Amino acid sequence: MRDNMLPYGRQSIDEADIQAVVEVLQSDWLTTGPTVEAFEEAFATQTGCAHAVALSNGTAALHAAMFALGIGPGDEVIVPAMTFVATANCVAYQGGKPVFADVLPASLLIDPDSVAQHITPRTRAIIAVDYAGQPCDYDRLRRLSDQHGLALAADACHAVGGSYKGRSVGSLADLSTFSFHPVKHMTTGEGGAVTTDQPELARRMRLFRNHGITSDHRQRAAQGSWFYEMVELGYNYRISDIQCALGLSQLARLDRWVTRRQAIAARYDTGLASLPGVEPLALSPDVSHAYHLYVVRVAGDRDALFSALRQRNIGVNVHYIPTTLQPYYRAAGSCPVAEQAYQQILSLPMFPAMSDEDVDDVLTALRDTTG
Ligand SMILES: *Cc1c(COP(=O)(O)O)cnc(C)c1O
Repeated sequence: MRDNMLPYGRQSIDEADIQAVVEVLQSDWLTTGPTVEAFEEAFATQTGCAHAVALSNGTAALHAAMFALGIGPGDEVIVPAMTFVATANCVAYQGGKPVFADVLPASLLIDPDSVAQHITPRTRAIIAVDYAGQPCDYDRLRRLSDQHGLALAADACHAVGGSYKGRSVGSLADLSTFSFHPVKHMTTGEGGAVTTDQPELARRMRLFRNHGITSDHRQRAAQGSWFYEMVELGYNYRISDIQCALGLSQLARLDRWVTRRQAIAARYDTGLASLPGVEPLALSPDVSHAYHLYVVRVAGDRDALFSALRQRNIGVNVHYIPTTLQPYYRAAGSCPVAEQAYQQILSLPMFPAMSDEDVDDVLTALRDTTG
C-alpha cells in the first residue's frame, strides 16, 4: 500500500514560476499592470481567440460573462445539472433563472435534446460545461442556439488545452470561461478568464471587473488624470500582476501538461479494460479531451469503494453532486440521468506530475477493492 495520500489533483510549481512572481514583486506594478495585459494576450493566443479578460476567479469569470450578455431578471439560462454550482449561480447573481438540462448518460455532457426541451420564450442563453475536460457537441449546440436566437457560453473550466473538430477550447462559444484554481490545469493561485472574439463583450467584462468604471488606475496614471466615470454597476473582480506572472509562466507548460494528462488517461483506459465493473466515461472521436478529471462509473457500491480506496491512500473524489440536488436549487426540478449517474461516479487521481507507478497504484487498489 502507498505510504502517502495520492491526491485527485495537484498544482505543479517550478523555479521559473517562483522567479516570475519574485520579479513582479520587485516591480512598480503589483496589480492591474503590464503583466495582466501580457497574460491576457498570451491566453487569447493559446485559445485561438481575439480577446481574453482575466478576473479574480472562475466564478467571477462566469458572472462577468452573464453580465456581458445582459442577463437579468426574467431571463432564463439553460445549464447542465452535472457541474459545479458556480455554473448556475452566475445566472442567479444577475437576477436570472438557471434552468437545468439533463446530461447524456455515456459522457455526462449536456444533452442537446434536453436543452431543446427546456427552451421557452424567456430563454436567453445556454451555458455548456466541458465536463471532466471533454468538449461538448458545439456544432449541435450552435445550431440550437442560432435557431432560437440564444447566446452560447462555455464553462470551459475543465477543458483548457482541449479541442473540438480541430478548434481550440475557448473559441467554440460566444464566451468561454476558465478557472486557474490550483486543482485545474494551470494556476494563478486564484484566478479566472473569459475568452471571446467579440470586442463589445470583452469591453463590458473589463468594465464589470473594475466597479463599472471606464478607466483603470494604470490608464489614469498614463494620462496624468484623476477623472473617472462609473457607468455600470460592477464589482472588484480584478486579478493581480503577481497572479498573472504565475499564470504566464504556467501557460508555457500547459500543452505538455495536457499531453501528460492524456497519457495518464490512456494508461487508466488500458488498465481498466480488464477490470469489469469500473468503466471510464465515453470519449467522442471529435475531440481532444483535456482530462481535468478522469471519471469512472462503478457497478458496485460507490460509497464503499470510495472509502476503501481512501483507506489505501488513493485520493478519489466525486464530481459532482448534481446542482438539482442542492437544497438551494431543489425546487428547480430534477434531472434523472445526472442524479442516477451521481450514485456511480468516482474521480480517479489525475494531475501531470503523477508517475506511471502512481497510476498503477490506483489500478492495483481498484483491482484489490472491486471484483
Ligand atoms: C472550478 C470551476 C468553477 C469555478 O472556478 P473558481 O475559480 O473556483 O471560482 C466553475 N465551473 C466549473 C465547471 C469549475 O470546475
